[in-house]
Parts: sequence; C-alpha cells; structure tokens
Amino acid sequence: MAETRATIIRNGRLVDVASHRADPADILVVGDTIEEVGRPGLAAPADAIVIDARDRLLHPGLINAHTHGHGNLAKGMGDRWTLELLLTAAPWISGGRTLEDKYLSTYIGALEMLQKGCTACYDLTVEFPVPTVDGLEACARAYADAGMRAVLAPMVAELTFFEAIPGLLDAMSPAQRQAVERLKLAPGEATLTAMRETLRGWKLDREQVRPAVAPTIPHHCTDDFMRQCAQLAREHGVALHTHVQESKAQVIVGLQRYGKTPTAHLQDLGLLGPDFTVGHGVWLDHDDMQRLGDHGSSIAHNPGSNLRLGNGLADLRAMLERKVNVGIGTDGANCSDNQNMYESMRLASMVSKAQGPDTDRWLTTGEVLSAATEGSAKALGFAAKLGRLAPGYKADIVFLDLHTVNWLPFNDAVNQLVHTEDGASVDRVMVGGRTVVERGRVVGVDVGALARRVEASRARLAEANQPAKALFDNVERVVNTFCPGLAKMPYHIDRWGGGHHAHTFGAYVNRAR
Ligand SMILES: [Zn+2]
Repeated sequence: MAETRATIIRNGRLVDVASHRADPADILVVGDTIEEVGRPGLAAPADAIVIDARDRLLHPGLINAHTHGHGNLAKGMGDRWTLELLLTAAPWISGGRTLEDKYLSTYIGALEMLQKGCTACYDLTVEFPVPTVDGLEACARAYADAGMRAVLAPMVAELTFFEAIPGLLDAMSPAQRQAVERLKLAPGEATLTAMRETLRGWKLDREQVRPAVAPTIPHHCTDDFMRQCAQLAREHGVALHTHVQESKAQVIVGLQRYGKTPTAHLQDLGLLGPDFTVGHGVWLDHDDMQRLGDHGSSIAHNPGSNLRLGNGLADLRAMLERKVNVGIGTDGANCSDNQNMYESMRLASMVSKAQGPDTDRWLTTGEVLSAATEGSAKALGFAAKLGRLAPGYKADIVFLDLHTVNWLPFNDAVNQLVHTEDGASVDRVMVGGRTVVERGRVVGVDVGALARRVEASRARLAEANQPAKALFDNVERVVNTFCPGLAKMPYHIDRWGGGHHAHTFGAYVNRAR
C-alpha cells in the first residue's frame, strides 16, 4: 500500500493537541511512514512528490474504535429501538447476506469513514449462523479496496439474544418461542474452528487489515467458549473485543447469572489484558473501571449509539482517572446511522459535559481528540504506529480545507476540530502515504455503479428477509415489555460522589445464589 518514492507535504498547518495551535509545517514521508516533521522549507529528496498543503489543516487520521461493517446496509432502518430491540431485529436487518452483500456493506462504511476523516477502524462483523472464511475475506477485501486500515473481528456467540436473557423465552407464547428457537446459532466448536481457519490462513497485509476475536456479549456465550476465544486470540497474537455493560439490562442479567458484574466475571475468566477492549461500558461501576485500568485494557466509547439506543451516558472521566485506555467509536450504522468520527468526538465532549456541573470532571477537547486518535490506536493494537503525526508513525493524514465555513474564522485548532468540524472540510486523506481521498471523494470509485449494486442488494434483502421482519413484528412487544422491566430494576451507580451501589448490588448477588 506504500508509495515507493518520498513525498514532501509543504506548508500545511499541523494540529498540536497540547497548545491548541496549528503552525505551518512540512512533513516528509518515506514509504508508508513519516520520516521527519519540520519548519517550512524542510529538506527533501530531489525526486520527492510535492504536495502543497497551504490553507490546509493537517490532523492524524481519526480512528474508529468500534463499528460493525454489516450495519451499513441497515442504516436508517430503526428509530425508537433499545439495544434489546436492535438485537431482536438482527435476523431481519443483518440476515440473509450473500458474499456480495457482506462486501458492499463493509465497503460503503469504509468509504464513509474515509470521506469523514477516519483512516482505521475496529470492525466487529457478523455472519449467521457461523462466521466463514469467505465472508471474512470479502469484508477484509472491502477495506483493502477502499484503501483503509481495519481490525476485523467476527462477532461470535453460542446463544441467540432470546436464549441469553433469563426468562425471556418464558414470557413468550408457545408459537413465538418455537419461532425464535429456529434461529439457533452454530455450536461453539464450529465457530471456533471457522475462526481458527481464518486466523491461520490470513492473506492480507496485517499492517492494513488484521484479524481479531470478538465474542459478542459475555452472557451470549458459555464461560468455556469465552475462555477458548481468549486462548485463540492469544495463541495467534490478535486482539479481543466484546460488548460489556452497554445497557442496564445487561448488568442486571450479569448479576443474575454470575452473581457479580460482567467485568468482574471476565476478569475471573482471564480475558482482561492490554489486548482487551470493552465496547461501550456505559454501566461500569468504579470497581469495574479499576479492573480494566489495572489490566491496561481499553474502552471503546460510542456516545452516538449510547444516546440513540437510550443506554445512557458513559463516565469517561472516571475511566481516565483509573487509567483505562479510552478510544472513541461510532458503533454500527444500524444503531447510530452514520460513521462520522467528527460527530462522535463532538458527542463525546457533550456527553461528558451533560453529566453534572463540576467542570473539572468534563473532558477537554484535547482529551477527546487524543482518545479518537492515540487512544483508539492503542485499542486497535497500533500503539506508537497510528494516532500522531510524528516521525516513526504511519503517514495516515487528513487535510482539512480551511476555506470552508467550519473554519471561518479560525480561532482554535483543537476546539474547532472537536466541536465545529463535521467532515465537510475533508479535502485529502492519506493512508500509509498514499492519497485515498482527493477533493473529498474516495479515489477511483464509480459512485453510479456502486449505487446500482447497493440498491440491488437492498431490494433483494428486503424481499429475502420478509419472514425475519414478520418475526420481529411478532415478538417486538414482548421483548419491549420484558427487557425494559429488567432495566427498571433498582441499580444505581453514583457517578459523581464516588459512592457505591453496595445495597442494590447485594440484592442481585443474593438472588443469583
Ligand atoms: Zn457494537
């Protein structure tokens, strides 16, 4: 993916997180890596390609710490959905996919991310009833074709959503129960075998697209399956990612099943480590955060999804205080409806500020930008390679046009990047020194032809997934009565006073025994 000649980027204004300034600078890129950053007039090889970056703000490519490539074909399909209704809708909005659908769904997400200043992502993709080598290859190829970096993890489980929530099947009529019981996933062993084959036979350059392992949600898996996922990841030196304490209902189910929080349970199973990322963590208590911090683990914070699904506001200040590495993501387009990391940064800042009046506890724009670059890079396993524009880092660079309304006037580089920019100023994007976006569009894409292929997929899936849609309509009410019932049970985390929830926690521990 790298250019063989050197490239010199001249006179761009380089964002500096610490000072909030953006002074003119030159960047010398050799191969796929930044060789040198210096004042304008920096020496470069005579045959270097010259890029004039006058009136351009340069920032490190944003890194999406949590998304779902399969979600892009389902954007806009839902509105008033909780996480539990989204999971109920999964067979309808994500099922019946051909290899072409899997490729396209991932590819349009990659295009959107690139055009909105994001150069790498952590994609938890799903195939029913079991991940396949061909399916994962199609998704990986989509990123390679778009020219983007990705960590691609098949999202796997043994239990369906309906089986995973204690009591939910009992709340259904016999006919409903029969219908959802037909959705069975493959046995854990078949899933592990498919993942093992994928990890062994990985063909792509791991600096561009690398595999990872993602058990979907702890209580959708047996303990043994979770342990084997961790073992598989560690045997192959790849990362681990799972959704933890995203909704309040998930914590209640965890307390009922494990007699402790899901994070405490994952610690017992040996999953926590520097290679481990928690998706969301909205309902972590301070002990959970301490566990993650002690193990050097990461959180992928997805404020847009947390708001859209009504899961609440994650407390990033408390996580940072406990040394949890924090990255920022969009989550899938099936539950946040876009892949805009500028919006995610803005929301991360707003969500932090919406939680109370103590401004010391609010995230600064600098903290948000660092999370969306270096923090996410660490979660993806690219620490010290991605997330900064400095010698030794990969040349993943976004050029913003400063002659757009977002930058008139230009007062503060970091505040405006986080609070004002929305992607409309993206002019050029480089990944590994190669220009993949020019004048705001991904290079070499025939949008008309792509639109026809996407419409063909959409139309075919709408038809093929009619029965799954009918099943969703049939069980929506029972799911949306039972699960909010769980979420209304008393469970309180005192976010601001540093207090605890010992009283209500004890109630669930006792019930579990
Ligand atoms: Zn997710």
